[in-house]
Amino acid sequence: MDLTVEKKLRNLYELQAVDTALDNLKAMMGELPMEVADLEDEIIGLETRLTNIEGEIGQIQDGINAYRTRIKECNQQIDKYKEQLNQVKNNREYDALNKEIEILGLEILQAEKSIKMQQEKLDTQKEILRVTGETLENRRKDLEFKRVELKTIEKENEEEMNRLGGDREKAEKDVDPRLLKAYNRIRKNVINGIAVASILRGSCGGCFARIPPQRQSDIRAHFKIIDCEHCGRILVDVTISGQETIVEVKEEKPATRKRLKLGAKAE
Ligand SMILES: [Zn+2]
Repeated sequence: MDLTVEKKLRNLYELQAVDTALDNLKAMMGELPMEVADLEDEIIGLETRLTNIEGEIGQIQDGINAYRTRIKECNQQIDKYKEQLNQVKNNREYDALNKEIEILGLEILQAEKSIKMQQEKLDTQKEILRVTGETLENRRKDLEFKRVELKTIEKENEEEMNRLGGDREKAEKDVDPRLLKAYNRIRKNVINGIAVASILRGSCGGCFARIPPQRQSDIRAHFKIIDCEHCGRILVDVTISGQETIVEVKEEKPATRKRLKLGAKAE
C-alpha cells in the first residue's frame, strides 16, 4: 500500500513522539540513581573522615595523659628531694639537690605549657568532629529521602515504560521502512534524539537554523520528505506535529535535555 507523504510523516512523527517520551523518562531516571550513588560515596568519605578525626583526638588525649603522668612523677621526685634537703651534710649536696628541684620545676612548667597547647588542638578537633558528624547525619537523611524517591519513580516509571514500549512497537510498524532507516540514522547522529523536528518560528526545531521561506512552504505542502539543510533532521509543519516543539538546551551537558510538547496521544 502506498501511503501519502502526509500520512508517512504523521506516522513518523508519532514514532518520534513516543521515542522522545521514552528519552525523557530515561533521562529522569538516569539522574536519580546517580545522585543516590554520589551521596553514598560522600557518606563513605565522611565516615572515614570521622574515624580519622576520632583517631587524632585519641592520640592528643594520650599525649595529654602522658604529660600529666610526667608532672605527677616530677612532683613526687621533688617531694623526695625536699625531704633529703633536711638531711644534707654539706653545701655542695644542698646546692645539687636544689638544682635538681629547679630542673624538675622547669620540666613541669614545660609540660603544663604543652598540655595547654594540646588542649587547644583537642578543642579544634572536637569542633571538626561535631561539624563532620552533623554533615554526615544530614547526608544520611538526604540519602534515605532520595532512595525512597528513586524507588517510587522506578515503580511509577515501570508502568509508563511498558506502556510506551508498547506504543513504540505499534508506531514503528506504521513507519515506511526507508523512512525508518533514515530516522534511526539521524537519531543516532543528533545529540538530543530528535530526528523529526517541527518548524519553530521559521526555524528548524532541532538545530534552530533558519528555513528559507520556499522550503517552509514545500514542507507545508507535504509534497515530499524534506530535511533541514543544516542538520539533516526531517522537518514537519505544525499540522503534523500538532504543537510547536519546545527544546531546552543545557549547554554544560553533552546529552541535551529536551521536552517535547506532544500530541494528546503520546502525552
Ligand atoms: Zn536543523
